[in-house]
Amino acid sequence: MSDPYTSTTSQPIIKLDIPELYQCVHCGLCLNACPTYRVLHIESESPRGRIHLVRAAAEGRVELNERFASHLNLCLMCRACESACPSGVHYGRIAEAAREQLGPSGSLLARAAANFAFTSLLPHPARLRTLARLLRFYQRSGLDRVVRKLLPARLREMNSMLPSVPSRFFKSSTEVLPAIGKTRARVGVLSGCVMTVLFPEVNDATVRVLRQNGCDVVVPQSQVCCGALNVHNGETTAAKRMARQNIDAFLGANLDAVIVNAAGCGAAMKEYGHLLRDDPAYAERAQIFSRSVKDISEFLAELGAVTPPHRVELTVTYQDPCHLAHGQKVRAQPRELLKAIPGLKFTEMNGSDRCCGSAGIYNLTHPEMSQELLREKMESIAQTGAQAVIAPNPGCMLQLRYGAKRYGPPVKVFHLMDLLEQAYGADKDSSSG
Ligand code: SF4
Ligand code: SF4
Repeated sequence: MSDPYTSTTSQPIIKLDIPELYQCVHCGLCLNACPTYRVLHIESESPRGRIHLVRAAAEGRVELNERFASHLNLCLMCRACESACPSGVHYGRIAEAAREQLGPSGSLLARAAANFAFTSLLPHPARLRTLARLLRFYQRSGLDRVVRKLLPARLREMNSMLPSVPSRFFKSSTEVLPAIGKTRARVGVLSGCVMTVLFPEVNDATVRVLRQNGCDVVVPQSQVCCGALNVHNGETTAAKRMARQNIDAFLGANLDAVIVNAAGCGAAMKEYGHLLRDDPAYAERAQIFSRSVKDISEFLAELGAVTPPHRVELTVTYQDPCHLAHGQKVRAQPRELLKAIPGLKFTEMNGSDRCCGSAGIYNLTHPEMSQELLREKMESIAQTGAQAVIAPNPGCMLQLRYGAKRYGPPVKVFHLMDLLEQAYGADKDSSSG
């Protein structure tokens, strides 16, 4: 039988000018950190196997066929392998570069939908709001219940994963929202595409917590989606446009930091310097911008968070979003902020930094693997006995809320900012956001 990967040419099949590809020493220490390897125990579904395949393609030894694409696309882009790798291999950059060369995969319809979302939807906040309004109408008019009965099982399951769209969206402001008390910093806040339409209360809480900590807050109106979903799926043309627009929106505002409350967005924005490295007009500005990006917990820890005065009587556990723990190496700061809340009991979860299976749109494109990881995650949460799980990333929040409904335990799922806002009593202060 012929090797399904073997190329008939010795020419490079993909052009990858990234040195990371040659740093892997094949030690295998990343294998057990990889969710897909832990489930399937197949080398080609491991980081080492995927790096080997990409390298073989770059050297003209294998073809970029469907089978090759399937191994790369089953990867969650969780970057747990980067945390485990002693050689510092930046797997995310290798996979993103390979996916860029591969282009979108799947059926014609799936490719068209992905192309529309990446180039005609995500870069346009007004269109996103329109789509969210349509979804809200669909959910509230009762149409949702009718359609659900007509759908085949797989689509019915996807339909039940749709988040409930709130009655209002987060609004940016033309004004500077002033610090409460003495001003300690001036910061910009990324409003984000999903956060704006699905989690407006978390964005409000983020602004209030920053103000309680002495920050003047700017939410530039010309900002757009960070482009993370595009980059992870190999679409870089629109992603670069979005990165440039965000750099322009924030860099002129005289800020001490650009604050992000969504792990995936923060990780992507810290990589703008890499994304725009070949753009003579933006390469340097992108480096400066990326250095100014901080996750909200990282920023508060550096600033020295004001001790919250109010009690929050709750037992909570913490889910490390992959792009916070592995992508940004931010692990201790959110835990420290939680432990500083009076009355709150913190309990650690086994495998807290294992992916919950959300991974952008992965739960839609690879439902079996995603559900397997989610089921395992919900078991770990159940073992903690916590009443709530804290997961500061919109994808993880949606996935875990779905997991609580489908598998139990019936835990609440919060963003870190939800609890901090309560602990500062800022949720009762309607003037602060
Ligand atoms: S990014 Fe995650 S799923 Fe992909 S190879 Fe690395 S550990 Fe495995
Ligand atoms: S990616 Fe890192 S940990 Fe994994 S095999 Fe290569 S060198 Fe070893």
